[in-house]
Amino acid sequence: MNRIMAVLGLVTLFGMSYNPIAQCGTKGRSSEGTNGAHLKKVDQDKIAWTKKKAGYWKKVLSRKQLLVCRQGGTERAFTGKHLYNKKSGVFVCSSCGHVLFDAKTKFKSGTGWPSFYDVFKKRGAVKLKVDRSYGMVRIEVKCARCGAHLGHVFRDGPKPTGLRFCINSVCLNHRSYSYARKHKNAIAELNKRRKSKKKSARR
Ligand SMILES: [Zn+2]
Repeated sequence: MNRIMAVLGLVTLFGMSYNPIAQCGTKGRSSEGTNGAHLKKVDQDKIAWTKKKAGYWKKVLSRKQLLVCRQGGTERAFTGKHLYNKKSGVFVCSSCGHVLFDAKTKFKSGTGWPSFYDVFKKRGAVKLKVDRSYGMVRIEVKCARCGAHLGHVFRDGPKPTGLRFCINSVCLNHRSYSYARKHKNAIAELNKRRKSKKKSARR
């Protein structure tokens, strides 16, 4: 969460035009995504997800998932399958199965997209990037493991973080907590890599 606050702080620091009520956008197609069938028979933790080429994603994802998750598009508001999903468990990346959000942090924002006030286990779930598309300055949220575009984060969320992660349903699949326990190593591994990267940058 410190990193998230730092990125958001940077935006303020440099006086960029930041619009906290900007929504996700209106681009999108009607077909729903796949339910992660390509992830069921593979050892997700051993795959070099960032090295997967466009041809692979074209084979395993639906057209809508390709447009949103791999090309940075946005699904139409109030059309996503997880908008009203209140089941307990976790939401994972529909591209690579990485655990992203705990259902406990999902809240009704009224914006038309699934909204969360925090990420799963604070670190190693998502990465943030400044996005200057469409004449706005927003903070893009990406999957930390495969780099899939997920949505944006804004500073008009509820307590305790004050953040609103505005996420496209098509980039998410719902899974149980036992799935999250099985995949906790992926998050630990990403944190380890991030720490060693920081150390080598300081040298
Ligand atoms: Zn992913």
